[in-house]
Amino acid sequence: MEYLSDRIKSLSVSQTLAMAQKSRELKAKGIDIISLSLGEPDFNTPDYVKEAAKKAIDDNYSKYPPVPGFYDLREAISNKFRVENGIKYAPEQIIVSAGGKHSLINVILSIVNPGDEVIILAPYWVSYYDQIILAGGNPVIVEATIDNDFKVSREQLEVVITRKTRLIIFNSPSNPTGMVYTREEMREIANVVKRHEGLFIISDEIYEHIIFKGEHVSMASFEDIYDRVITVNGVSKGYAMTGWRIGYIGAPQWIAKAVDKLQGQFTSGVCSIAQRAALAAISKDDGSRGKMRDAFLRRRDLICKLLKDVKGIKIRVPQGAFYVMMDISHYFGKSDGVILIKTSEDLTLYLLDKAQVALVGGEAFGAPGCIRISYATSDELLVEAVRRMKEALYKLH
Ligand code: PMP
Ligand code: GLU
Repeated sequence: MEYLSDRIKSLSVSQTLAMAQKSRELKAKGIDIISLSLGEPDFNTPDYVKEAAKKAIDDNYSKYPPVPGFYDLREAISNKFRVENGIKYAPEQIIVSAGGKHSLINVILSIVNPGDEVIILAPYWVSYYDQIILAGGNPVIVEATIDNDFKVSREQLEVVITRKTRLIIFNSPSNPTGMVYTREEMREIANVVKRHEGLFIISDEIYEHIIFKGEHVSMASFEDIYDRVITVNGVSKGYAMTGWRIGYIGAPQWIAKAVDKLQGQFTSGVCSIAQRAALAAISKDDGSRGKMRDAFLRRRDLICKLLKDVKGIKIRVPQGAFYVMMDISHYFGKSDGVILIKTSEDLTLYLLDKAQVALVGGEAFGAPGCIRISYATSDELLVEAVRRMKEALYKLH
């Protein structure tokens, strides 16, 4: 322990993954846990994608792939950006990595110097914070609460920008809130970026295909800030391919080059078979993406209806992704006679113990009054989970 680097000591464990691991361990002990902790589609990868991967093995895709990704995959991604997002990225501006998470750290390490400030919008996705720490940056948190529909305003951003601010990380549809920024709201944020020279914005669009209301808008489609945007995406969520580990960026050429160099010393090109599978996924729409979206929408309606009947929980109806952020601050200071609830972490552990429902406490998302539900599971399990939660919460006075 004493010889661990300061860098690793300053890093927290990913709470989404930690909670998922905890539920796996409890399940292995025979405890009937309903896990609504991990954010991943419960569907299988579409058949046409699996077939492409099998073919890639038979076709001997077994050598080192090019560091930035196979050229035909980068061409397909370039085409996807043009058709679906209205953004022009040449294949040379695209780098394929081992998941969106890897794409994000690559970009952060490439443009953030120790001491630089990086703005994240709370509630934010867990890994943003620690990836900034890993790069030696200082996370600057701009907070949105349920009363602002979990969205931050232009004014809130303006007041925290200093000469040291290098980057904003933006995510719509959002994990953990499910909120989707409108074109007008995004335009306002784009204006802030435009006004500050040397300020960049990562637009994490990994949930773009899981959207229930309105349109998905890509930050880089605002042409006047195109040079300051790094678009992060991947196949994990839209194609139910979390385990394949393929993410990518579209970025200004100099950032793509830097990420290529970094990846060349770190991972090399990422898994060749998974890249061939991703190429198939992106090149065709067999309807499964839409079917999965429809299933998420039905479940969103179900979970929101169920939660309406639970005392002390406030929510906003999510417009995308597959999460609901519950404001549970009503329960702070309440007790079942033995356990006193002081934090959302306390309530998460109480629900794990008494209701056997695994959730993720808001602290990890920079939202200490909230708890996140991932509703990417069956209707039956959602009904049962809320029934159990209700029973356990009822005992708190
Ligand atoms: N960004 C957000 C907002 C996410 O929720 C996730 C899912 N963990 C990722 C990025 C990364 O996804 P992956 O590494 O599986 O591509
Ligand atoms: N995006 C998912 C989540 O937030 C997967 C876990 C992770 O990568 O952190 O739960």
